[in-house]
Amino acid sequence: MQIFDSHTHINADQFVGDLPAVVERARALDVTHMLVLGDNKRTNARLMTMLEQFPHIFGAAGCHPEDASQYDKEWEGMLREMALHPRFRVIGEIGLDYHCAVDHRLQWRVFEAQLTLAEELGLPVSIHNRDAFADTYAILQDHQPALVGGVMHSFNGDAQWAKKFLALGFNLSYSGVVTFHGAPEVREAAQVTPLSRMLVETDAPYLTPMPYRDRMNEPGMTRYTVEYLARLRGIPAVVLARQTFNNAMRMIESGKQQANEN
Ligand SMILES: [Zn+2]
Repeated sequence: MQIFDSHTHINADQFVGDLPAVVERARALDVTHMLVLGDNKRTNARLMTMLEQFPHIFGAAGCHPEDASQYDKEWEGMLREMALHPRFRVIGEIGLDYHCAVDHRLQWRVFEAQLTLAEELGLPVSIHNRDAFADTYAILQDHQPALVGGVMHSFNGDAQWAKKFLALGFNLSYSGVVTFHGAPEVREAAQVTPLSRMLVETDAPYLTPMPYRDRMNEPGMTRYTVEYLARLRGIPAVVLARQTFNNAMRMIESGKQQANEN
């Protein structure tokens, strides 16, 4: 079995000093590939070092909506420079977060600026959406013709929202949230998501899947989400692992193809 963790932050402070062991423990659970997302100068620098160290790690970066007030020309320049690396393939996570106190109009502006950048660079996007379904959908719908595509990271909506974002061409990535007792609507969404459009992720160090919620999350735990989703869908885990792996690879490769054409 080979599993792709399509959204992880092993470049976060929590993992400093433990990195080769984290990657090794993931491999022991068949989690061989990862998309690592940077969200500030420090984590972006660590990500670029990892891309040199680990051939099965791919890179993404973007300004998270919580940090929208910090997005400026320098931030954009940093993303453009990172995008020159052959295994930097995704802009994200970007999006809207109405749970945080940041002004909504500022969030919209920074989200749209980064969507436009992704369009220009020909890279897919990883979307963060918290309590902002309607506005996230409206903005993505507006940009959809120019976008390469992408993924709704840690999808946490119901079956209706799942269908809407699928219709926009987005992949839906399921995290440990799908295993939580309080998330029956996310399980309904996972039931109606075609296997050809499903991704899996940890969002480590957050969102540890059941029954390990007392532990810090790390990429290896994608394994438990794969096993859970496979039971939910009534298929062998190896089939769900293979399909989600191929889907993640396809998204990652879509960035490279576009970059070569430009
Ligand atoms: Zn994240």
